[in-house]
Amino acid sequence: MCGIIGILGGAPAAPRLVESLKRLEYRGYDSAGVAVLDGGAISRRRAAGKIRNLELELANAPLAGAAGIGHTRWATHGAPTTQNAHPHATDKVAIVHNGIIENFRALREELARAGHTFDSETDSEVIAHLISAGLDKGLTPEAAALNAVARLEGAFAIACIFAGHDDLLIGARKGSPLVVGLGDGEMFLGSDAIAVSPFTAKVIYLDEGDVAVLTRAKVRIIDVHGAPAERPV
Ligand code: GLU
Repeated sequence: MCGIIGILGGAPAAPRLVESLKRLEYRGYDSAGVAVLDGGAISRRRAAGKIRNLELELANAPLAGAAGIGHTRWATHGAPTTQNAHPHATDKVAIVHNGIIENFRALREELARAGHTFDSETDSEVIAHLISAGLDKGLTPEAAALNAVARLEGAFAIACIFAGHDDLLIGARKGSPLVVGLGDGEMFLGSDAIAVSPFTAKVIYLDEGDVAVLTRAKVRIIDVHGAPAERPV
């Protein structure tokens, strides 16, 4: 189980995502990656091995955009390759995931039958395709994320960004920790407080089963029963 960072910021996201991932190195990892919304579209850079390799990728092909997600992976399903590194994405959504999706095989078969093609050997990639399937049906990002999370068995902390939604970051947790960081006109998600510590000291620890819907101005939390929830800062 490794590191997650999500940023809805007012400055280019890629360098900040990398800065945060460096703080998470202490947890150990085998690959790393980031995805940002660049002109509304999802763009990714990923690399096997050290964060230095990801930095080289970004130096060769920089990413603009102030909203993004980042991940350090400790492989459980699939080799520690660039292809298996997070974020996983469709053209509509990009996700990072800590933990293990126990029912990924059944979900993957179902999604493959519906025409989804998979690019990795990970359990995590089904999350991107499940959410994308909901978006294809016309659901809002929030509804698509809630529906997808309801179908996941196992342990997860997740952060997602959505193409065409530059002011939206959704997180969910069950069995793996996730925090919300509250900045000044900025919002963050992190696998722990250290992940968001370069940007803010104001943190909300999400409860088991929570889904957090973030914009730069506001955080809304939905509890495991689907009801609005307040959590202390
Ligand atoms: N199970 C996922 C994978 O193998 C996530 C691993 C992690 O928590 O880093 O990609």
